[in-house]
Amino acid sequence: MMEKLRLGVFELTDCGGCALNLLFLYEKFFDVLEFYEITEFHMATSIKEKGPLDIALVTGTVSTQRDLDLLREARNRAKYLIALGTCATHGSLQASVEGRIRDRLERVYGTRANPMKALESKPVTDYVPVDYALPGCPYDKEELFQVLMEIAKGVEPVRKDYPVCLECKLNEYECVFLKRNIPCLGPVTYGGCNAPCVRSGLGCIGCRGPLPGANLPGHVEVLRSLGLDDEEIARKLRTFARWEP
Ligand code: SF4
Ligand code: SF4
Ligand code: SF4
Repeated sequence: MMEKLRLGVFELTDCGGCALNLLFLYEKFFDVLEFYEITEFHMATSIKEKGPLDIALVTGTVSTQRDLDLLREARNRAKYLIALGTCATHGSLQASVEGRIRDRLERVYGTRANPMKALESKPVTDYVPVDYALPGCPYDKEELFQVLMEIAKGVEPVRKDYPVCLECKLNEYECVFLKRNIPCLGPVTYGGCNAPCVRSGLGCIGCRGPLPGANLPGHVEVLRSLGLDDEEIARKLRTFARWEP
């Protein structure tokens, strides 16, 4: 009988959505269990085994010293580390309010106290090498399923490097941006979600983070032409990630 791969789920500071999303695989979760033995996952089991891991799934941002210690532990134990969800890959909401957490703590506890040992929220990719990054707030669970199945079969998962627009076109969704003047960040956002927001008649709000190499200045110009001011545009772009200058 084939030996199962050992998988641990490590949750740093986050809303819990990305860890929970794994359980929302429902019956497919049992397919995952055909190939993987879950050695820790606090939302699903009280078992917590130490020792080497084949895969560590890490959700959330590094926002406290405890997060950083846990992340380093996961990295040291796992052969393959997957940053799961936009908190882990790009910092998401916590990192977008960078600088303010400390101010607020100081306002409450004074300048000499930091009882939570809070750090400025940052994605896990800022601290340790990551083997695969799967963004999304939350990530697409089918995409995670595919990635886990590919790794179990010895196939390196393909990294997606195209914008949401591509999936919009492939699905033949109406472009809400061109047809209805709805602001959309699809042209500058990592694809892979299959454009569910556009399918629902909404613009993409960029939850999978910025696509490297996208024409951001060009897209800012287009958003301005829809009547958005620069502050509004900046706020939209910074919801899930800090764009590099
Ligand atoms: S990426 Fe979104 S859904 Fe996932 S943990 Fe962070 S805030 Fe929650
Ligand atoms: S709706 Fe948005 S994501 Fe879809 S094609 Fe238009 S601009 Fe791109
Ligand atoms: S369309 Fe945009 S906002 Fe919606 S899930 Fe995809 S990346 Fe996230």
